[in-house]
This record gives sequence, structure tokens and C-alpha cells, in this order.
Amino acid sequence: MGVSLLVIEDEPAILEFLADNLRMDDHRVVGASSLAQGALLLAEVRPDITLIDVGLPDGSGFELCRRIREGDAGDPDVGVIMLTARAEEQDRVRGFQRGADDYVTKPFHYPELLGRINALAARVSGTRRVEQLSVGPICIDMTRRTVRVAGVDLALPAKEFDLLSALARDPERVYAKQELLERVWGYRDASTTRTLDSHASRLRRRLEDIDPSSRFVINRWGIGYSLVAGA
Ligand code: CA
Repeated sequence: MGVSLLVIEDEPAILEFLADNLRMDDHRVVGASSLAQGALLLAEVRPDITLIDVGLPDGSGFELCRRIREGDAGDPDVGVIMLTARAEEQDRVRGFQRGADDYVTKPFHYPELLGRINALAARVSGTRRVEQLSVGPICIDMTRRTVRVAGVDLALPAKEFDLLSALARDPERVYAKQELLERVWGYRDASTTRTLDSHASRLRRRLEDIDPSSRFVINRWGIGYSLVAGA
């Protein structure tokens, strides 16, 4: 089963290569190209594993790793694999001192990197608590990818589940359509806002079928969508 990955890498070709291949290998991937963006997405996406390039335009990936473990950026228990162009043993030592779980030197051999991700995924999923999100009567189990609404199981297609959980990260917040497209379909996907709109309206109908008196998925015209606890 795939895991949720955040790849923080400022070289577009490497980021695209990783995102494309990891998705083909059933993982869910969000990309960031700077330390600042990576720190934000760590808190918002709460990935299972993050791959962090050491040389980022606004700072060192080691610094971000240290902040993660100190509880200053997202979940301190996230799996961390450092990516670096430098092969020196010193970097390896530095990486582990700051709490990285593993270390891959660029240019990397993709099957080896995938093997390390899968090994770390098995460790991380074995030790992490079950992650639940709830918004009003909607309970989302991120580990099992299941949803219950007012105690009723709701089976959702994968993209509707991803959309619901993206919105549930920050209830009431209005997510711009472009941001949701990137979160749910990936930043290189050619899906348009029409795809997003049709998934959002199907999701809204499914939720309202269970609780017809409430509204959960709110279309903020001209901006995007938000999830509320039942308006
Ligand atoms: Ca770099």
C-alpha cells in the first residue's frame, strides 16, 4: 500500500522525476521547492515520509530535519530521508545527528531509493498512531482511508477521499481551486477545475445523502471550496 510523501527538492527535473515515478509506484506525492514551502506542507499535508534535499535555495535541508525532530515543523515522527549531492561521510553523520532515518546520495539509483522508502514506510506505519481527522459528524481514518458520517460508513472513490481529507485538514478554510488540484491530482496533472468541480459536487451529494439537513462541502464561488461541520 502506498504512503503519503512530501518531496522537498529545488531541482525541477529531479522533483518531477520523483513525483512521476513514486506515483506510478502507488505513493501519494506532494512536492515543495524550498525549505519554507516544505515546512508549511509538512504541517498541512502531514506526510508519512518526507524526502529532503540538503541544498535548498533558502537554507539547509539538515536545518529542516532538526526543526522537524524538535517539533517545530509538522509531525516530529515523520520518516525523513535526506537527499544530497555530496557523498562525503561527514554529511551522512550530520544527517543522522539531526535525526534523519535514512540518506540517499545524488545521483541516486531510483530502485534503491524506492527500496529505502518502502522499508521506512513499513517501520513508520508500524509505530505511528492511527491518524484521524474529524469535522462535525465526519470522521476520517487516514491510515485505513475510511470515512464515517454520523456513524454511517461512507465508501468514497480515491480522489473524493483525497479531496475530503485535503479540505478536512483545516475546516472552514477556503482552499483555492488551484491548490486543491495540486494537492489531490498532483502539480503536473493536466486535470482542470472542471474535474475538481465534478468531484466536489459528487462528494457534496454523498455527504448530503447521509445527512440531508446539513451542508458540508461549500463552494465559495470564484475562489474554491471549504469543508464545514454542517451548515
Ligand atoms: Ca538542491
